[in-house]
Amino acid sequence: MTEAPKISIKKSLTSRINELDPKNIPFGNIFSDHMFVVDYSDGQWQHPQIVPYGPLELSPATSALHYGQAIFEGLKAYKTSNGNLELFRPFENFKRLNRSAERLCMPEIPESLFFEGMIQLLKIDQNWILPNEGCSLYVRPFMFATDHYLGVRASLNYKFLIITSPAGSYFSEPLKVIVETKYVRAAEGGMGYAKAAGNYGVSIYPTLLAQKKGYHQIIWTDSKEHQYIEELGMMNFMCVINDTLLTPSLETNSILHGVTRDSILTIARDWGMKVEERKLSIKEVIAASDNGTLKEVFGVGTAATVASIFAIGYEGKDYILPTLDDSAFSRRAKQELYNIRNGHSPDHHNWIYKL
Ligand SMILES: *Cc1c(COP(=O)(O)O)cnc(C)c1O
Repeated sequence: MTEAPKISIKKSLTSRINELDPKNIPFGNIFSDHMFVVDYSDGQWQHPQIVPYGPLELSPATSALHYGQAIFEGLKAYKTSNGNLELFRPFENFKRLNRSAERLCMPEIPESLFFEGMIQLLKIDQNWILPNEGCSLYVRPFMFATDHYLGVRASLNYKFLIITSPAGSYFSEPLKVIVETKYVRAAEGGMGYAKAAGNYGVSIYPTLLAQKKGYHQIIWTDSKEHQYIEELGMMNFMCVINDTLLTPSLETNSILHGVTRDSILTIARDWGMKVEERKLSIKEVIAASDNGTLKEVFGVGTAATVASIFAIGYEGKDYILPTLDDSAFSRRAKQELYNIRNGHSPDHHNWIYKL
């Protein structure tokens, strides 16, 4: 790691923590008292600071708003029962942020800046990490282009920020999803593997159409044939057929390399389960549903960790999945991730980063 950057700190005079009702935490619209901000200009990251959370002043010509050089990350900070602050595999988010930055011609964030900014911010706002079971502080690092310029080119100026938002225990009812055979989230050669703002913008309309038909989320398929499964909403897709855990491989560059995906695959392999990362056609999954070998379908990502699917709509028909009990792989894997985070299972792979 390069030398730690000097971060100037301006603390807020009052805290808004009392506005937070620990029993009822809505996702994503309450933010902790401070934020980390650093600007890129003249080829360098300049003047990192932690300041009270608040609005930014931007030119109407801010290039990110016009041409979409905007990327982000998402990870969670926890407080253990003995009061320690922890992050889950933050190095993976750091590396992915820089892979996204490269794809969008944005500058690399140095490791020391990313970690120092995040750690100091979390220490200052640690009251916002509730120790209650299932609670966490969602950490949102993001970067966008700030040139005041309407010409199309890689911006010369950027802002990198980290904001944080408290998250309650996230329980989601099993979801009903539909296989998308018209729209795409990302195409081969595009930026699907990058955590780019545009990948979200493009998915809102097809998701809304699916919701009007009574489905919660979309199973995205490949852009050429709409045959191969890519992702599930904004999560990675997994299923269990017979006793094998299956997930689309990352060979195509249209799938996001999820940290949760990797963690669950690792847990499955540690448990001696058969795991296949490969091209996975929707026809194969539907055939498995028809012949009774499809046991589980679920999405994996930081927000929900595991989101179960109870029905898949495909070519006008709904395929209903078996109900799960506690012996289901997805339930056990979700519990194991939770156990690793709170110290009830050993952290063999050094996933926990203590602050
Ligand atoms: C963030 C994201 C995921 C999940 O990644 P995690 O690192 O597990 O949170 C999956 N798919 C898409 C499209 C995403 O943006």
